[in-house]
Amino acid sequence: MEREKLEVDVLFVGAGPANLAAAWKLAKMLQEQGREAEIAVIEKAQTVGDHILSGAIMDPRAIAELLGPDWARECPVDAEVTTEKVFQLSETGATKFPFVPGPLKNHGNYVVSLSKVVAWMKEKVEELGVMIAEAFPGNEILYEGDRVVGVRTVDMGVDREGNPTGAFMPGTDIMARVTVFGEGSRGSLTKSLVEKLGLQGQNPQVYGTGIKEIWDVPAGRIGAGEVWHTAGWPLKSRHYGGSWVYGMSDTRVSIGFVSALDGGNPDFDPHATMQRWKTHPLLRGLLEGGTLVKAGAKTVPEGGFFSRPRSHGDGFLILGDSGSLLNIARLKGIHTAMKSGLLAAEAIADALAADDVSAAGLEGYEKRFRESWLHDELYGTRNYRAHFHGRGLMLGGFVSNLAMMLGGKIFGDRLPLETDAKAMRRRGELPAEPAFKPDGTLTFDKATAVYNAGAIHEENQPSHLVIADTDVCATRCAEEYGNPCEKFCPAAVYEMVDVADSDRKRMQINFSNCVHCKTCDIADPYGIITWTVPSDAGGPKYSGL
Ligand code: SF4
Repeated sequence: MEREKLEVDVLFVGAGPANLAAAWKLAKMLQEQGREAEIAVIEKAQTVGDHILSGAIMDPRAIAELLGPDWARECPVDAEVTTEKVFQLSETGATKFPFVPGPLKNHGNYVVSLSKVVAWMKEKVEELGVMIAEAFPGNEILYEGDRVVGVRTVDMGVDREGNPTGAFMPGTDIMARVTVFGEGSRGSLTKSLVEKLGLQGQNPQVYGTGIKEIWDVPAGRIGAGEVWHTAGWPLKSRHYGGSWVYGMSDTRVSIGFVSALDGGNPDFDPHATMQRWKTHPLLRGLLEGGTLVKAGAKTVPEGGFFSRPRSHGDGFLILGDSGSLLNIARLKGIHTAMKSGLLAAEAIADALAADDVSAAGLEGYEKRFRESWLHDELYGTRNYRAHFHGRGLMLGGFVSNLAMMLGGKIFGDRLPLETDAKAMRRRGELPAEPAFKPDGTLTFDKATAVYNAGAIHEENQPSHLVIADTDVCATRCAEEYGNPCEKFCPAAVYEMVDVADSDRKRMQINFSNCVHCKTCDIADPYGIITWTVPSDAGGPKYSGL
């Protein structure tokens, strides 16, 4: 098959905060130095920002390094943080913490919509001459031996069986001297790169699934810049997770609930948990009489410092969430992602100048990382997530905060983690989760969430969710785990349906619902589900979320 070939010096895969900060700084540096380089960014969404979802509160440290102290004049922010509250919830009560724990202090930070921030960054980066190709999903890494030499984008215009239609367009081979993976949480190309080259850090990555909604609420319920966090109900005491409420304006609020995927219960449903949380009197009082505006879901890489993959090699770098740089103790990953981009830009500029883009030539990224505040911030909380493992929220929170006060070292320098899939217990070993019925006003079903995420995929294409052996779903998984994908997928993509004239069931994949959260690729206990890029560049439309 004839494929178009495109040659660039630097290819950024994914238009999130890490890669856009890197492209911005690199283009600016080269321009100031009178040097030239072809820089391209490819993005799987139709529009930059469509697949970006975060709480979000932004620590401005990295963006101020890029743009100077007046960064907020241009960057779209909703509000500066004004007040903070932390609550421990029981089913009906809310106890306000007498103080805000150190990592959750947010004064000097800003409530933002990250999808709006990256849409603005895209325009600024384009003004510097960087080519940004939207609806251009990278499908395969191109190698020469173990050296990364570029990315092949997905073939478009193929039918359900994978045959070319009249609209067929073969993917493009984008050849690059340096390829930078900043695909966000559980990036599909980063996953394959880490597996192929054995890059995983000392610990595996662990994740939470975050469910987010934006609501318009009557005035007087919350102020712009007001921040709440809650711990406890409706999670069981040994399940790590919690929530946020961020006042975007006096009448608009961002709310969300993140629950860890290593909770062990195959019955656990992150979407239903978030909906149940909204029925607490504290949340009901905030939301009742309001209107749901938008919804979405995304996984959060929680492993931290010891889950970092080796992030440089021959012809490549790995940044941001893909490089496990989110600080889960602070519930923040935007400033860490951007900082990794700034460090990468300097390292790439040096490597291009020396005409050495091998692992040795790109090692400047790792050296800069080790000498940066980013390293110190992540190292100081290096065992944060592991302290919660098996301890529950209260004891885990106490131990992790004590460890941070003691410089991070308690019970050993590195505590182990196990993958979320391994943590899943067989059905019946843990108490069943209570059934939940949405009321359609305050709480909603998964179909409504998909609608409010704006998720659309062309039906006539192969499923981008690939199950290696669907017999396992109907036999072993049904028996051993009770088909947990039906519960953990927040978009009702997986459905065991009756087989006509038989007492058997079969797996039906409603792939057009998928909101690209990646939970299934992570939590499936048999490791047989693989998330791949859809061939129509479809997915959610999170712009403004
Ligand atoms: Fe998330 Fe997988 Fe469901 Fe898509 S199919 S919404 S990636 S869990």
